[in-house]
Amino acid sequence: MAHDPDCLFCKIIRREIPSKFAYEDDTLYAFHDIAPQAPTHILIVPKEHVATVNDLTESHEALIGKLFLAAKRLAAEAGISQSGYRCVLNCMRGAGQSVFHIHLHLIGGRLMGWPPG
Ligand code: 5GP
Ligand code: ZN
Repeated sequence: MAHDPDCLFCKIIRREIPSKFAYEDDTLYAFHDIAPQAPTHILIVPKEHVATVNDLTESHEALIGKLFLAAKRLAAEAGISQSGYRCVLNCMRGAGQSVFHIHLHLIGGRLMGWPPG
């Protein structure tokens, strides 16, 4: 699996940095955000290092589907399927991306406003 030795999330995936486990399979790792913005705030991360949505190719089509299916399952486990949740994937600094290894935020457990800031 392609990884970047300097990437924070690659280090978390490889357990070089600790994290609070939420889910893992062959292609994904999910863990709780260190600075949660809601009662449920989980980051769902592909094990392959992909820096931004801009770097996705056709080869990642199934992987992106897996991120959302994992979000759906984790939302059900957290009991927020019906109350509602956000699946957020920030692309580039102007949109709020601070870690350059793509990750789907699963955020829920409280009422949220729209539009986002
Ligand atoms: P972004 O701003 O790139 O969309 O999201 C990065 C997220 O990673 C932020 O919500 C931030 O709180 C979280 N984060 C940054 N460093 C760590 C860390 O070391 N451990 C965990 N669990 N989350 C982190
Ligand atoms: Zn990475």
